[in-house]
Amino acid sequence: MAAPPQSAVQVRADARVDSLGRPLALGRGEQLRRSAAGDHPAERSTARSAKRLGAFRALDTLSTFSSLERVRKCRRVPAYGQTVVEIVHRVEDRRAHFAGLQTCGSVWSCPLCSEKILAGRADELLTAINSWTARGGDVIMGSLTMRHHRHQSLADLWDALGEAWRAAYGSKIARKLLKSCHWVRRVESTHGRHGWHVHVHFLLFVPAGTDPTELGNCMFAAWSRRLVSLGMQAPSRDEGGLHIKRLDLSNAAAEVAEYLAKGHYEEVNNAPVAIDQPGRNAALELASISKQARGANRTPFQILADFVANGEVADADLWREWENGSKGRRAITWSRGARDALVVDNEQTDEQLAAETDGGGVVIAELHSRAWASLVRRPVLLNTLLTLVEMSRDSDDAYCLVDAALACEGFPGAARRPPDRMPQWSA
Ligand SMILES: [Zn+2]
Repeated sequence: MAAPPQSAVQVRADARVDSLGRPLALGRGEQLRRSAAGDHPAERSTARSAKRLGAFRALDTLSTFSSLERVRKCRRVPAYGQTVVEIVHRVEDRRAHFAGLQTCGSVWSCPLCSEKILAGRADELLTAINSWTARGGDVIMGSLTMRHHRHQSLADLWDALGEAWRAAYGSKIARKLLKSCHWVRRVESTHGRHGWHVHVHFLLFVPAGTDPTELGNCMFAAWSRRLVSLGMQAPSRDEGGLHIKRLDLSNAAAEVAEYLAKGHYEEVNNAPVAIDQPGRNAALELASISKQARGANRTPFQILADFVANGEVADADLWREWENGSKGRRAITWSRGARDALVVDNEQTDEQLAAETDGGGVVIAELHSRAWASLVRRPVLLNTLLTLVEMSRDSDDAYCLVDAALACEGFPGAARRPPDRMPQWSA
């Protein structure tokens, strides 16, 4: 039996806990996310701060705009029974966050929850790849796409994709090969001139030596036939209808990161803006940076980012269609028994992954929920508070910086020290 290659990813043990305080491993998805931000701590801090500000702005927009109640409340409303919101600092990697807030667990429509969920799913996929290759099997990676036009709804295209996928993995050769093997699929959507483009990426866990081309041709033929039977145009195999190849195990982590990459939210313009000024949208419009992607296919989060920057009605309509069309659908689907066979851990739901918090954090300050209700409408200030904590020398320094920043911005006394670190008076 073949041993897994050295380059196959090993999940690193690290201190992280879920919402119930249970320890979790810090997986490769999280490591990838962290390393992607830059190698030097200062670069990492700046990039993280800019990205976090973009996400806070998006949540601010979604809090009044989203059609999904849980998304509107995500990281805005204190969790049930909470009267304070905590600023927590994880000292070992200098990351700060707010704790004690509701989370929505939407992999499709929340900029922050999606990132946490996809990092967790990346860990699972890498574990599955390691597990299968350790048994001597091969992993094949591919995608199937379909033809579409702008008058087709997102929901109809997604439903057709599900039917065609069932036909593809049920096709003669695939059925024979996959009878004792496994697959996992991920659905991805973009939007462009020809409307919604919904497609499927897949990993096939197959016996060593399986010919990807033969298997792919068989799956594509069944995929195409089923789409035509549903009244759609036949996809063209050689015009992007099918991509298939053996997974490069020496580069598995990067390939899986790429596989999930388009699920992340990025602000259209990361140029620093000093205050929450009303003219920000106009400034971005003048810079026209967000216009660069027009004409190209945009991911849903790129549509949201454009809407946050420009407020265009067409983008608002598209985003609403996206929220309604994607709600309740799974981002990642495993074949029957595949997850149990390849990933030993119990599966965490999207909601559980989204609610995970970094462990080992020190509570720097508590913000009363009444003050929080005003603060939460100030994304730049929220980001500044966390950035100041990340730059501080120690907990006392962090608290003083937070207290001073709040006072400067019109919130004197909004922060208090956590009860166990109140100054002690001696007789
Ligand atoms: Zn969320």
